[in-house]
Amino acid sequence: RRRMLTVALRSDVSITPNTILTRLKHECATPLSLLQQVAANMSADMRAGLGLGLGPGPGPGPGGLPMIPSFVENLPTGNERGLFYALDLGGTNFRVLRVQLGGKDERVIATDFDQVSIPQHLMLSTSQELFDFIASGLAKFASKEDGRFHISPGRKREIGFTFSFPVKQTSIDSGLLIKWTKGFAVSGTPGRDVVACLNEAMERQQIDMRVSALVNDTVATLAGAEYWDNDVVVAVILGTGTNACYVEQISAIPKLHGHVSSSGKMIISTEWGAFSNGLPLTEFDRAMDAASINPGEQIFEKTISGMYLGEIVRRVLLKMAEEGGLFGKSILQNLSTPFILGTPDLCAMQQDCSGDLHAVGSLLYDKAQVESNLSERKTVIEVCETILKRGGSLAGAGIVGILQKMEEEQRGRIFGNGNRSVVAIDGGLYENYPQYRAHLHDSVKELLGAEKSKNVVIEHTKDGSGIGAALLAASNSLYPHGL
Ligand code: BGC
Ligand code: MG
Repeated sequence: RRRMLTVALRSDVSITPNTILTRLKHECATPLSLLQQVAANMSADMRAGLGLGLGPGPGPGPGGLPMIPSFVENLPTGNERGLFYALDLGGTNFRVLRVQLGGKDERVIATDFDQVSIPQHLMLSTSQELFDFIASGLAKFASKEDGRFHISPGRKREIGFTFSFPVKQTSIDSGLLIKWTKGFAVSGTPGRDVVACLNEAMERQQIDMRVSALVNDTVATLAGAEYWDNDVVVAVILGTGTNACYVEQISAIPKLHGHVSSSGKMIISTEWGAFSNGLPLTEFDRAMDAASINPGEQIFEKTISGMYLGEIVRRVLLKMAEEGGLFGKSILQNLSTPFILGTPDLCAMQQDCSGDLHAVGSLLYDKAQVESNLSERKTVIEVCETILKRGGSLAGAGIVGILQKMEEEQRGRIFGNGNRSVVAIDGGLYENYPQYRAHLHDSVKELLGAEKSKNVVIEHTKDGSGIGAALLAASNSLYPHGL
């Protein structure tokens, strides 16, 4: 008996990369039963967030998701005509777009866009600096409008403003920033109307344009995708951050009690990044969260979205190196630097099919200055795959949670025979990372089963949010009939 105890103790103290990997795989596992539970929790938290108990305050109530009414009650019809602009402040890039809409027959007559990456210092600046940056980008872009675009005299150019952060929407063209996410910590904006912030910046730069719709990027994506395909009912962003929106029945939104909607429907932005109920988390997730600028918040986002997957992997590798001797005698200074590994790095490593994992080795050396042998590189790939699979599978479970909630409300509409329900997905993570996409699709299929899967289509929509925001600006235009 004493001998057994000694053996147990010894195997407990000898930490190797492999023991850390085994434990990681165990803790990140996403068996069907867990995914089912996550999907069910997602539906339940959606319902709680739509409920009355939460009052008008910004954040979610206990257990509930923010479930933000977008005040978008009608999707674009195709009849939209005229010149419209869109602004998109996302997690990584700032985009400006203009589009000449030609109605049912001509649809999109001309478009033009410009994109700049958001300088790091602006993410930590003041509200005025950030909005001045946006307004000056808009001014520069607007000055290059060419002869393909035209607008009736006397009419203001109108903007659909895609603002990809949680906003407590107060109308279709106003809303208060609840909080920043995705590494933004700009002072002075939370609690303020972001359209007013933009209007002030436009006035400072003498830009005479009007914001006629303020929308989340998921909402703009849904509108943009639905413009081409009427069966789109859910839109998901999987990029730097993550969120999903869907078409809800007004009667299922108790917190909008008394609101009259012409269509009986409204798009709800779930802000599912705030979800956390039942997720398989590890010490690495907890440590990353604690060190983040928003500890305790956006836990689903921190588990499944692009900003964080590389950082989770880095933390695992650092522990393997420090405590288990991974990477031999390499100096760990770079590997100790937060966010030194990005999700695109994981993706690049996972595409390496060479026998000696040469690309993995050079990437580890370039980014983290560590030397690796083949077996160490294999371990690194397994860590990436573990974190990737957890992320993609949980994203899939979230989507199924939304579909199940919709089906409960409108029996047969989603999974019923012969129906087609389209989930439109955009974002760099989904677009660029084939393994992530595959795990997401597998998870949705596994959860729905063969019969229901037949009715659900998951589609990549590229850059739908630009056109979508412009379309929503058009459908909320001050000049509903003009060109
Ligand atoms: C924000 C959402 C946004 C999502 C995708 C999240 O961090 O809270 O509002 O839709 O990122 O961009
Ligand atoms: Mg975006």
